[in-house]
Amino acid sequence: MTNGFAADVLICGAGAAGLTLGIELARRGMSFRLIEKMRGPFRGSRGKGIQPRTQEIFEDLGILDKVVAAGGVYPPLRVYSDDGSYTEKDTGERPDPTPAEPYHIALMIPQFLTERIMRERLAELGHRVEYGCELVGFEQGENGVMARLAGPNGEQTVRAGYLVGADGGRSFVRGTLGLDFPGKTLGVRAIVAAVLLTGLDRDAWHQFNDGDMERMVAICPLAGTDLFQIQAPIPLDGEVDLSVEGLGRLITERTGRADVQVDSVAWASAYMMNARLADRYRVDRVFLVGDAAHIHPPTGGQGLNTSVQDAYNLGWKLAAVLGGADDCLLDTYEEERRPVAESVLGLSTRLLDAQKQGGMRRGREVRQLDIGYPDSPLSRELAERSSGLRAGDRAPDAPVRGAAGQPSRLFQLLQGPHWTLLVREAGRETVGPRQGLHVHYIGPQGDIIDAWGHLRDAYALAPGECVLIRPDGYVGAITILDADRTAKLEIYLGCMGVVQPEEESK
Ligand SMILES: Cc1cc2nc3c(=O)[nH]c(=O)nc-3n(C[C@H](O)[C@H](O)[C@H](O)COP(=O)(O)OP(=O)(O)OC[C@H]3O[C@@H](n4cnc5c(N)ncnc54)[C@H](O)[C@@H]3O)c2cc1C
Repeated sequence: MTNGFAADVLICGAGAAGLTLGIELARRGMSFRLIEKMRGPFRGSRGKGIQPRTQEIFEDLGILDKVVAAGGVYPPLRVYSDDGSYTEKDTGERPDPTPAEPYHIALMIPQFLTERIMRERLAELGHRVEYGCELVGFEQGENGVMARLAGPNGEQTVRAGYLVGADGGRSFVRGTLGLDFPGKTLGVRAIVAAVLLTGLDRDAWHQFNDGDMERMVAICPLAGTDLFQIQAPIPLDGEVDLSVEGLGRLITERTGRADVQVDSVAWASAYMMNARLADRYRVDRVFLVGDAAHIHPPTGGQGLNTSVQDAYNLGWKLAAVLGGADDCLLDTYEEERRPVAESVLGLSTRLLDAQKQGGMRRGREVRQLDIGYPDSPLSRELAERSSGLRAGDRAPDAPVRGAAGQPSRLFQLLQGPHWTLLVREAGRETVGPRQGLHVHYIGPQGDIIDAWGHLRDAYALAPGECVLIRPDGYVGAITILDADRTAKLEIYLGCMGVVQPEEESK
């Protein structure tokens, strides 16, 4: 056994959750290792739907345009009847974008492409995944975690300040912590496969025997590739044949179409649907993110999105605590994210029930734009507000102009690892300048011009009010900048590790 190099954070698992956390830590200059037990990148595609809230996060991470360019939008659902005729409908509502919600419909991109783009972003930031490196044991001490890693050159021990289990539904980290993963098995077993096939158009998501759990099969062209994704429920027990012949037979039996031929199988898997939630997301210096913390059926396309958003929530908090913020900031990760997973479990299970009846319809809730943390200890409302935006809400976008006249957007100003304070028509005696905080003034002599009133519509700030936006794009506080409340805001920022340099504060 040798000693490997130490890191502030050891991330176990390089799926979407681990990669997002890696990007978040990398762009804050933190030291971390991102290990993955597989020898190379995941080649399959389970999660293919990227919801609008995740698109906003991808914009912040600097990968949205690449994801859009590599993927596409969902085609209409083509629902076939037994006689071969079909009707077409949308996969869900298709609302128009608004100034506050610029991304409005789910994107489709196979998981392996999303993860590839994330790895490329990580490389731009000077980091990479360590493949063929498996976490095989760990112990927690007062100041860190000792982890045992197994790789091609044997075992090594490494010391890390924190360990994050981003290691999927069968999480080794969760198991080693001895955490319960209560919930239920949903009595549905299914296959998911990525194949090359002939006989079906690529302009529709083909659904046969909708609502019949014994004969249903859905075949979706995977945007950005020549592949189709096959999804189908299968009997609870017994062998599954995932070969070209086996999948071809399944398609012929369920569609009645001899012209649909599977030519090759790129990746295939059979899985049992479960809805489970870990009892805890944190045990001292060890955290769970993504499927390691929650699993649920794929209906509604929520799993990868929720996993990315877990990591996005934890990343800035870990970096802040490593940089000197109060440790209790890390408790808010579970406080904020576990209730979100709880409601996602409910949503995806309800959609699965609807699918069994052949009537699944995705509404606004799948877009994840209304997720917020109003009950979080981090959400402070220091101004009297009876309506409009509240602390804990997602910070909406708003097209604005810079004082120099150039078009801009609030999301452009928020992009990056900093906090943002937006101040409406107040003097310059707000909180002092400090690393990690960008302050913008709206109004006469301000650096932002609310040229079209979109900031007013979305934020409804009264003169003298300000809104403090967290690095993950949620409202931390809304307040008036009088002496008392400015002092409170200073304390709040101090707890987050956003402090004024000493010589400035004197
Ligand atoms: C059919 C299907 C369709 C789906 N569709 C959608 C969708 O449309 N939208 C959506 O949001 N989600 C969808 N999902 C869910 C989505 O695929 C998962 O939620 C997502 O992959 C979770 O990401 P993760 O990073 O948490 O875990 P994973 O992707 O499982 O990654 C965990 C990684 O950890 C590694 N690992 C495990 N143990 C160790 C160890 N000891 N040491 C080192 N590495 C380890 C694994 O090899 C793996 O690479 C779907 C799922 C299925 C099955």
